[in-house]
Amino acid sequence: MSELVSRMRRFGTTIFAEMSALAVEHDAVNLGQGFPDTAGPQPVLDAAIEAISAGRNQYPPGPGIPQLRRAIAAHQRHWYGLEWDVDSEVLVTAGATEALAAAILALCEPGDELIAFEPFYDAYDADAVLAQATLVPVRLEWPDFALDSDRLASAITPRTRAILVNTPHNPTGHVFSRAELEQIAELAIAHDLIVITDEVYEHLAFDEHRHIPMASLPGMRDRTITISSGGKTFATTGWKVGWVTGSAELVSAVMAVKQWLTYVNAGPLQEGIAVGLALPDADFAAIRAQLRSGRDLLVPALADAGFTVAPVNGGYFAVADAAPLGVTDAAQLCRELPERIGVAAVPLSAFYRDAAGAKSLVRFAFCKRPEVLHKAATRLRQL
Ligand code: PMP
Ligand code: GLN
Repeated sequence: MSELVSRMRRFGTTIFAEMSALAVEHDAVNLGQGFPDTAGPQPVLDAAIEAISAGRNQYPPGPGIPQLRRAIAAHQRHWYGLEWDVDSEVLVTAGATEALAAAILALCEPGDELIAFEPFYDAYDADAVLAQATLVPVRLEWPDFALDSDRLASAITPRTRAILVNTPHNPTGHVFSRAELEQIAELAIAHDLIVITDEVYEHLAFDEHRHIPMASLPGMRDRTITISSGGKTFATTGWKVGWVTGSAELVSAVMAVKQWLTYVNAGPLQEGIAVGLALPDADFAAIRAQLRSGRDLLVPALADAGFTVAPVNGGYFAVADAAPLGVTDAAQLCRELPERIGVAAVPLSAFYRDAAGAKSLVRFAFCKRPEVLHKAATRLRQL
């Protein structure tokens, strides 16, 4: 570790890698790291196989293959009424992960502040530190994890460069409402800030909740960098095909950094995701219904096992409070669970700068087959 630059030392190994390793070691049901255990839509898989077999295996164009960029633009028009120029306002990246890193590195000067809602996806803080910027957390509170706009307003300083919004939200399952997004937009416009949105769970808003892209709000199109990925929607998390949409000015800045990170990525897999984005609406509804039934299996099982569970309105995860089980340290519980009962989960503390008040919270993934969730339910009852 001592060879590592000092500013990166506090990050260590990601919690997902640590808990997945424990799950393998103890043959546990892995409800830690969020990856599906089912195959994605067959036409998506077939298109990638076909591209490889046909020999399209060399460097794709820098901004991504044209058919994927066209599919991304068409998908945003179809679902959200957003118009993007395929050549200058759409960029393909190595997952949302690279898009986030490239956007933050492209936009933040050393010392700039980046606001993110806490609990936040762990990469945001690491990306800020890579850019020598500072992540400023603004808390969302259990159990609704709703926006507190006064808190957001008071976190804005002259050094604030951008607000990072993740909706549907990992880890909490909160789907930001139009009213919440409008409050964020109002502050962004008043203080001339950029908004970076992480919308990787865009097709996974459940029940009456709807995913609303920040870029679709009045005045936000040209100050929003929208990031998404094919991984979650098409159950292809290992493909790492993501994208960025935004004004030509913002996208060209992100592109300027992206080219030095990976240059280009995953040509044949881009063909698969292009097919996925053009699938009929009914296929997206089926994907959402499958995830929703995963939620509807896991949430009552967690309640049966003695947890208090927060409302889950979208995404892959449920947040549960282990305090009723007498747990005060969820990190310790998660380290023990794989061996004790054969279930892996991640402590919510991994998503906080300061986890005070959230130390008994645990995140469980429900993007698993029903029989796997039933097995987890049986095991959790032993707690
Ligand atoms: N953002 C969020 C909120 C996530 O949960 C994830 C996990 N996949 C990512 C970004 C990274 O996406 P990708 O796998 O496409 O890099
Ligand atoms: N996004 C997934 C999660 O939150 C996977 C994260 C990862 O492995 N870096 O579990």
